[in-house]
Amino acid sequence: MRLLRSAPRDATMIPERRITHRYEDPSDAVWVACAARLGYRIARGDDVYAGFDGGDTITVATGAELDPDDSLAQIIFHELCHALVASDDARRQPDWGLDNTGERDLVQEHACHRLQAALADRHGLRAFMAATTQWRPHWDALPADPLAGDHDPAIALARAGWTRSRQSPWREALDDALTATAAVAAAVASAAQHDSLWSTYKPLHPLGSRVGPEGVHCSNCAWRFRAGPGYPVDRCRQHRDPGAAVAPRIDPGWPACERYEPPLSDASCAACGACCREAFHLVPVGVRSALAKARPEWVVRDAHGAHLPRPGGYCVALERGPGGGLPEAPYRCSVYDLRPRSCRDFTVGEDACLLARQRVGLSASPPLSATTSGA
Ligand code: SF4
Ligand code: SF4
Repeated sequence: MRLLRSAPRDATMIPERRITHRYEDPSDAVWVACAARLGYRIARGDDVYAGFDGGDTITVATGAELDPDDSLAQIIFHELCHALVASDDARRQPDWGLDNTGERDLVQEHACHRLQAALADRHGLRAFMAATTQWRPHWDALPADPLAGDHDPAIALARAGWTRSRQSPWREALDDALTATAAVAAAVASAAQHDSLWSTYKPLHPLGSRVGPEGVHCSNCAWRFRAGPGYPVDRCRQHRDPGAAVAPRIDPGWPACERYEPPLSDASCAACGACCREAFHLVPVGVRSALAKARPEWVVRDAHGAHLPRPGGYCVALERGPGGGLPEAPYRCSVYDLRPRSCRDFTVGEDACLLARQRVGLSASPPLSATTSGA
């Protein structure tokens, strides 16, 4: 039966309709509640796109003033990230103490983005909870780990905000809101139109990282290994928590995560050389070893014992550059047959090898947001 809004009603047939509830976007409801848990009230008004009064009220423009890719949920999340990045004093000032008319506070804005992305990443929501307006290009250029490095002054501010976000009541409020948003997204994504924000939701890998390249699986990853306790099973070194006794178990058939790396072999070494350069400070050498006898001028004896030093980060025995091999594979041990015991014991693809590669930046390190200290 088709009912027209303007159809005349027969009062004897149709009782007066009372509207008792209104539709509310689920993610908006979640984030209004999140803000309330943190002591902030959400008001709507078109004087500003989004603003904070320095007290307890965050005002967000109504839908008519927002872009199609804006959501109340994202804007509240963004403002809460500003609160986390702001100093204690700025957190009590209008607009978190920011000057929105110029570039004076660009670092704080960028720090807010980095923190927002790091928090959203833990739930597969980076695209769904993306910053919009003129900030979108900066958001889209953020790296996989927005809290890593020190090349941008915004990173230190974002890390401080991250630390604050892991403390009560922020931690519980944000984690609950992000978990609820991801649950709605997971339920809706497959039914969403291709241009719907909901369709951007990306389920996480079972170990909590973002999913990685298509067509590869944990079974073929450099970080997979087999170990107990008990009967050896497949585990992942990359996701091992520093505080945990064992690495987490994996199913080799799982699609790879974003930290996937192709397996390493002896052929990997010439292009890598990590264990022969900055990853470690020195290599012990026996004073009566064949190497010490062949190249005594290389052996240093000091408080660290007899060792081959690494001036400039490179082992004295390491050949590198054009003389050391191909441009894409520049490293070669010049005394390979005489190399010290610790070098002989070093195994490609094992813990120390992967640690060395992480230290020189050739292998992925867990993002701060995925470690216990950052949990
Ligand atoms: S790093 Fe990722 S792809 Fe590799 S084994 Fe671990 S979970 Fe699988
Ligand atoms: S760190 Fe591993 S892959 Fe790199 S040179 Fe050493 S053994 Fe080879």
